[in-house]
This record gives sequence, structure tokens and C-alpha cells, in this order.
Amino acid sequence: MSGFRLTRAESLERLRADVLDVLIVGGGINGAGIARDLSLRAGLAKRPLRIGLADKGHFSAGTSGRNSQLIHGGLRYLENLEFGLVREALRERETLLRIAPHLVEPLPMLIPFHGAFRRAYFGVGLWLYDTLAGRRNIGRRRHVSRQTLAEMEPDMALDGVFSAAVYYDCKVHSARLVLENLFDASSRGAAIVNYCAAVSWRRGAEDVFEVRCEDRDGGAAFDVRARRVVDARGPWDDSGKLRLVRGSHIVVPRLTRDDRAIAHFNADGRILFIIPWGVHGDLSLVGTTDIDHSGSADRVRISAEEVAYLRNAAGALYPHAALEPVAAYSSLRPLIAAGKESAAAASRGHEIAFDAEGVLKIGGGKYTTYRAMSEQAASLLFPDLGGASATGTAPLGGPDPAAEGVLRFHGVHAREALRLPRFPSPLDDGEAAAIEFAVRREMALRLPDLMFVSTYWGHERRWSRESLAPYAEYMGRLLGWTPERTAEETAAVLDMTRLPE
Ligand SMILES: Cc1cc2nc3c(=O)[nH]c(=O)nc-3n(C[C@H](O)[C@H](O)[C@H](O)COP(=O)(O)OP(=O)(O)OC[C@H]3O[C@@H](n4cnc5c(N)ncnc54)[C@H](O)[C@@H]3O)c2cc1C
Repeated sequence: MSGFRLTRAESLERLRADVLDVLIVGGGINGAGIARDLSLRAGLAKRPLRIGLADKGHFSAGTSGRNSQLIHGGLRYLENLEFGLVREALRERETLLRIAPHLVEPLPMLIPFHGAFRRAYFGVGLWLYDTLAGRRNIGRRRHVSRQTLAEMEPDMALDGVFSAAVYYDCKVHSARLVLENLFDASSRGAAIVNYCAAVSWRRGAEDVFEVRCEDRDGGAAFDVRARRVVDARGPWDDSGKLRLVRGSHIVVPRLTRDDRAIAHFNADGRILFIIPWGVHGDLSLVGTTDIDHSGSADRVRISAEEVAYLRNAAGALYPHAALEPVAAYSSLRPLIAAGKESAAAASRGHEIAFDAEGVLKIGGGKYTTYRAMSEQAASLLFPDLGGASATGTAPLGGPDPAAEGVLRFHGVHAREALRLPRFPSPLDDGEAAAIEFAVRREMALRLPDLMFVSTYWGHERRWSRESLAPYAEYMGRLLGWTPERTAEETAAVLDMTRLPE
């Protein structure tokens, strides 16, 4: 069964006791991907490798669980002539579809063309997109007349629309894919710990790093000794080399008529995505913005201006929709700071290199290319382990990922697998089981871990103290929370889901 093989306490003990071969700081998609790559390589090479990973909060609670949920080549990067990046991303798209079909699924994208010029311009772009994907393409584009578009999307405003096209990308449950990479690494012996912040590091005797860590689940500070350190802190990197660009999404009652997503190039040249959303498919995710972010990476919230921008942009396509957000979320793009180009145009390329202290730093990149980036990082860290990585062929999620993953997400898997006594509660069995699974198998320690990582319930409706109460109480009973702690956890989720006035 999936889930962490070692408990948090056992993993913490390993971090304390051993001299690790590598400590990975950060449990977003990049840290998780590197942990999995290294543990698979070590297995293939039959060489024991002591791998540790620490995240200062919950895994995937940074950018990786709060993005646009697309595994995509990035149609718009063609405009910047970033062909290499697009080709690599399209190759990764096919690989992820193969190794994690329960979390990555093909998503038809409908793209309306305003005017004949745009039809010709994007026609060439889509041709190039399919050509760059080559034999790894997941579905060929097709053009759609204005009339057919009107039948497909009767609520869409067609003023100025010349025609449209359907092309293919993929949708991912991005928080869960991080967890699955971590489960996999843990099942191969890696020690993975959340709520454990690396606050400083220095190279000590015999080139062993001493990393000061704080156990933020009420434990004491301690030193981890490691021969190598990977800095996968994403937006929390403090080297000054990154440009932090905030991207926000709103969740609104469903706009589209079927399960296609919409990719719309706005009047300002930015791309707007409208993506089917929610366990019941009755919502649309609308994003995103690109705003340079100057405050702390710990507090990232949508502004009233961003809500208005996204409503206007979606309203131009769906003028009769109410577009009243039920939820919203934001995160930071950790981009390589290059020139003075607009935030939207800044490159999504990545940089992986040792810094002056010998710490391997991961900067920039896209979620879609995490596996390729992890491969590169692992080869730099342990060149003697062999260049071959099995992450592109070894499936994630156990022997039957399709069945396991989907069921687990809906909570049913957990009920079947755990067979634990239930507390009486107004929750349905699937919800209760999902909470038990999150707590017992996924190291969820706080209510936001359940609401925004193990599930996306936090992003699927407007929450109030009353509606959160049964979830908080159920989790609190499993974790032995006092009434005060339960109230604090509820307040934390309410704060994170609050929409600007
Ligand atoms: C709005 C938005 C939409 C996007 N949409 C897409 C998309 O659809 N497709 C795509 O391919 N890409 C997308 N991206 C880009 C992609 O999501 C990111 O490039 C990727 O998730 C970055 O992952 P990461 O692991 O580097 O960072 P993160 O996921 O932020 O992980 C960093 C982790 O490090 C931890 N950490 C920080 N400091 C410490 C410390 N001192 N000690 C221990 N741990 C620490 C944090 O808690 C965090 O969990 C999007 C980005 C944004 C902002």
C-alpha cells in the first residue's frame, strides 16, 4: 500500500543519527523528484545511499500544490522562441502520462481565435507544438469552425471570433504527484520529514555539512550531518538570484459546457486558462496572473485587483456568467532573474549548479519538467552512481496506480485499506477515510495539510467555521488536539481561504 514507509518520528531519528549521503532541503516537486531519482538509482546500482529530505512546512504546500495543474509543453513559450524548453516539456508530458496515469490525464484544450490573423498565427504555433512533440504526441490538433464552436460552447461570446482549434495537454493533481514521489522514495529507504526547517548550514570537518534543523512540530533544534546538500527551497531561496512572480487563480461555478479546458490569449497578450475543477466537476479554475512579489514567501494571497483582472478576462469570454469566486489561491514562480522583461515574459528555463559552498541549488523551471531536472541534479550529485535513472519507466503509485490513486483521492481506498474504527461524525465515509489516510499515511499534521495537499477541498467551496468544524474535529480526534488547537487550525484554514473584499 502507498504512504510513507517510515513514520515521521522514525525518519526524524534517522536524520538525527546518521551521517547522510545527501540532505534535500525542500519537499516541493523538485526536492521530491530528486529524492525519488536518487533512491531508484541507488537501488539499481545496489549501493545503499542514506537520503534525507526536510520541508519546513507540509510537503507540496509551496508552489507545487498551488499551480495551474497543467503538464504542458507551454504553447506560449513558442512566442519567446524557447523551442528546447517546449520540446523537453512535451517529452516529459508523455513520460508522466505513462508513469502516473492515475494523476496525469489528457486534457483537450479549446483555443478560440479572434480574427483571421490569429487563426494563421496560432495555427503555425499549434503545428509547431505537434511537430515538436513528434511521436510522443498525445493527440493531434484539429480546427473548429465558428459554427461548431457555437455548438460546443453556446455560452461563449463569439464577437470577433474567427474560428477555434482543439489541441491536447495534460491535467495533473499536482499536490498528490509530489506526495507520490515522496512515498516512492520512502518505500526505498529515504527518510522524509515535514515541519522540519533547515535554518542554516556550513561545511565542517572532512567536508561534511552541518545543517541546523528545527523540528516545528514541537521538537527541539538539532544538527543533521550530510556529505551533500541540495537546496530545493523554490521561492524561499535567499541567494537573490530568483525573481518571484505571484500567480493567482480563482475558482468559480463551472463556465464551460463539457470537460474541455479553454486557453485564451487575452487582449494584453497573456494567456488565460479555464480548467474543469472540483471532485464533482462543477467548478472552473481560472488563472493566472503574473505580478512581481516583494513580500515574504510565507504569505502569498490574491489581491482584489487580481480577482478583478481574472473576472474581467473570463467575463470577456463568458459575459453572462456570474463569476462569483467560491475560492482562490496564489503561489510564487521562482524564476531565474534575467533582464527587465515583463513578469509574464520571464523565461521558465532552469539552472542547476553547485554554489560556492558546494550546495547544489535548483532554480527556475516548470513543474512539468521536474523529472528531467531531478535526473540532471542526481547525475551532478552522484556521478559515480551511473547516469541511468529509472524514473521515466518505473510507475508511480504501486502495482495498479490507476485504481489505487483515483480511489485514494476519493477516500475509498483508505477505508478499504485501513479498516479503522470510525468516530461518529456527520462526514461521509469517503471523507472520513480520506482524513484517516492523510493523518496515518501522509504525515498530515495540520488542518491545511488535509484541505490543500491531501485533498483540494479547501479550494472547492466557500468555507465557514461551521462547515469546517466536522473536518477539524475528526482530524483533531485522530491527532489528540485540544479544543484550542482545533480552533487554531480552523482559523488557519479560514485565513487561507479568505477572499479579498
Ligand atoms: C501560479 C503558478 C502556476 C503554475 N502553473 C504551472 C503549470 O500549470 N505547469 C507547470 O509545469 N508549472 C507551473 N508552474 C511552475 C511550477 O509550479 C513551479 O516551477 C514548481 O512547482 C516549483 O517547485 P519547487 O519544488 O521548486 O518549489 P516549491 O513547490 O515551492 O517547494 C519548495 C519547498 O521548500 C520548502 N522550504 C523552503 N524553505 C525551507 C527550509 N529552510 N527548510 C526546509 N524546507 C524549506 C517549502 O516549504 C516548500 O515546500 C506554476 C507556477 C505558479 C506560481
